[in-house]
Amino acid sequence: MKKVGAHVSAAGGVQNAPENAQAIGATAFALFTKNQRQWQGPPLKPEQIEAFIARCEGRYAPDQILPHDSFLINLAHPETAGLKKSREAFLDEMQRCEQLGLDRLNFHPGSHLNRYAEEQALATIADSINGVLERTKGVAAVIENTAGQGTNLGHRFEHLAAIIARVDDQTRVGVCIDTCHAFAAGYDLRTAAACETTFREFDRVVGLRWLRGLHLNDSKRECGSRVDRHAPLGQGLIGLDAFRWIMRTDIFDDVPLILETPEPDDWPAEIKLLRQFEQAKA
Ligand SMILES: [Zn+2]
Ligand SMILES: [Zn+2]
Repeated sequence: MKKVGAHVSAAGGVQNAPENAQAIGATAFALFTKNQRQWQGPPLKPEQIEAFIARCEGRYAPDQILPHDSFLINLAHPETAGLKKSREAFLDEMQRCEQLGLDRLNFHPGSHLNRYAEEQALATIADSINGVLERTKGVAAVIENTAGQGTNLGHRFEHLAAIIARVDDQTRVGVCIDTCHAFAAGYDLRTAAACETTFREFDRVVGLRWLRGLHLNDSKRECGSRVDRHAPLGQGLIGLDAFRWIMRTDIFDDVPLILETPEPDDWPAEIKLLRQFEQAKA
């Protein structure tokens, strides 16, 4: 059985996320370990950490949980002060994961803000990762592909490969592929054949062994639009064939598959649908 779930609410504290995941029938989940729209969050309280770990026990192992960092962080920031602030915030996010016994943190690589060349910005991201990995233990930095809006990096598989190549501790870096982002970035997923081609390309350029998670979202915008607008499964321009293909291939058996679709009320039905695709495999 694949690990399937959604990015659930942690309102009221991280310890509420496992319950929220269970309530929608999820066997995997994503969460923010602090308010994602603020730079600083209060430190996790020992009783929150204890409750989180106790509620995951026997239900959600670390490889079923994909925490996501704050949207404010830019690990490619072209200014010294901005970069420092982002790196400190990223360190705090990694330490929170460490405290919760988690083994991966999903983040968006960063933006060059038209201030320097792509190549240099990718090297800055790798430096940011290296600095934080040196100061933490056990948590892998999981780079998410992006739609390529504005000056966001990470929309080409080549960007992900270039960052990984510069990371010193290769055991603690990985990749999360978001289907909406890949599609918006120009990787077709509309048919099983298109999915095969896209993931073969991913394997060639980056390598499937780096995969630590998948975000399952349909897309409101067309292939190559470079605009990131998630749609419910089957209600966007990707369509259900992609999700059927994902649930039937065995290449995603070991990673959390996380819905970030816009309607939390739809998640139980979307999870059920994905399960049906999986069971129809044989
Ligand atoms: Zn995503
Ligand atoms: Zn997105």
